[in-house]
Amino acid sequence: MAMIDDARIDEIVARVLERLGAGATPAPARPASGGDGGRRASNIPRGTLGVYADADEAARAARRGFEANERTPVATRIRMVENMRRAVLANNEALSRFAVEETGLGRYEDKLAKNRLVAEKTPGPEILRPVAYTGDDGLMLTERAPYGVLLAVTPTTNPTETILCNAIGMVAGGNAVVFNVHPSAAQVCNWCVHLLNEAILAAGGPRDCVVSVERPTIDSANLLMKHPLVRIVVVTGGPAVVKAAMASGKKTIGAGPGNPPAVVDETADLAKAAEAIVRGASLDNNIVCIAEKEILAVDSIASELVRQLQRNKALLLDARQTKELEKVVLEGDHVAKDWVGKDAGLIAAQIGLTGHGHDLRILLCEVDEQHPFVQHELLMPVIPLVRCKSATDAIAMAVRVEHGFHHTATMHSTNIDHMAAMARVCNCSIFVKNDASHAGLGLGGEGYTSFTIASPTGEGLTTAVHFTRERRCTLKEAFRFV
Ligand code: NAD
Repeated sequence: MAMIDDARIDEIVARVLERLGAGATPAPARPASGGDGGRRASNIPRGTLGVYADADEAARAARRGFEANERTPVATRIRMVENMRRAVLANNEALSRFAVEETGLGRYEDKLAKNRLVAEKTPGPEILRPVAYTGDDGLMLTERAPYGVLLAVTPTTNPTETILCNAIGMVAGGNAVVFNVHPSAAQVCNWCVHLLNEAILAAGGPRDCVVSVERPTIDSANLLMKHPLVRIVVVTGGPAVVKAAMASGKKTIGAGPGNPPAVVDETADLAKAAEAIVRGASLDNNIVCIAEKEILAVDSIASELVRQLQRNKALLLDARQTKELEKVVLEGDHVAKDWVGKDAGLIAAQIGLTGHGHDLRILLCEVDEQHPFVQHELLMPVIPLVRCKSATDAIAMAVRVEHGFHHTATMHSTNIDHMAAMARVCNCSIFVKNDASHAGLGLGGEGYTSFTIASPTGEGLTTAVHFTRERRCTLKEAFRFV
């Protein structure tokens, strides 16, 4: 018989009450909080290929995988990466369903879109281009060479997306990767690692260039960060893991948190801006690091923008309802983790706003700049709006509330001076003008994708280029034919 825990029962009761149109529950029900790393969640297939019980064993296997991958012909590596993409596309429904089920976060249909994006738009070996200089002294050639074994520590918010994205970039460069994933997503991630190994083997590639730790913990992450066989530490997550990685003493690629503002000025097309903001802010219930976290609107258009947002499946809360919501989604000055990544309808039901199902995209409230909904990365579909006197004020506020993460910002405007000013002062890895934030990931926007956006260490959207080292060969007075 399938086991069902208390949190799951609470969630089901809340959903049933919601459907029956029952009133507010005085104490917030606790939603399903995702896998606990201890019990197995339902019927997620067990990953075995490339999955190791012990972190040291995983690092040793990855070292063997690297030695084999380094000798693998480029043509085979190209086939390996193609097969990895196909494996995720072929299993996307199950991976997306299991990710929502195990982590308790996000929306199935959005996970489908995110996995598809990564499978289709993550650069492979083709992004690694040799560079040649020739002159009177002969030839100089630079090529991108593998580092060896990379450690990838990955988040619960984009579990399989980050596995596929990192694995493609690292394997394409001739490396091997050992994953220490978030404990709340270990089962689905280990199954994803298993699928990638099947795909690599089917392409004639080596074993174990993509491996994972079966039951990852913070201790196993720390052990691997210091492991002598690990050459580079690549982390995707909040501030604590970036800090830990930087203290490892190894080269670190750190993809940390964001708090992306959406500035809307008096020249914006408000109907388009509202549609794009709701689409971006509600992607996977706002757990994506690049998703709009607060709206900063110029006062003269703010009321009309609010009306337009309401036409796009945003539910406007009044001041009393906003206070009620604070009690649910904040614990003191911190974000209540239980509500991260939950549906807007489920959160609304906690303050008595029942009858909104899966269809409701965001909860909207008007607050001031210092409000915790603005200051914190809530990672849930609760989006505050702050009125600003002018575009200049809004841009200055955007810089303040982004907290110097230099991660992502968006702007809706037709004034080229305003857009240029914000691009310059926000100084973010991703700046999107006149569309949803996810256009900056290539979802509905131009360009390749990455789910490891390294702002603290400066690589931006990471690819195989960042997972390889530059090597130069110089040849004196030869191979020059002009
Ligand atoms: P998290 O920081 O809780 O966990 C991320 C990973 O780090 C997990 O594998 C976790 O086990 C590990 N970890 C956490 N603290 C650690 C420590 N002290 N030592 C070693 N390992 C540690 O984050 P999450 O909840 O999984 O993901 C959400 C956060 O990640 C948000 O802040 C989001 O903005 C950020 N994020 C950033 C990017 C990006 O590309 N910049 C992408 C996705 C998520």
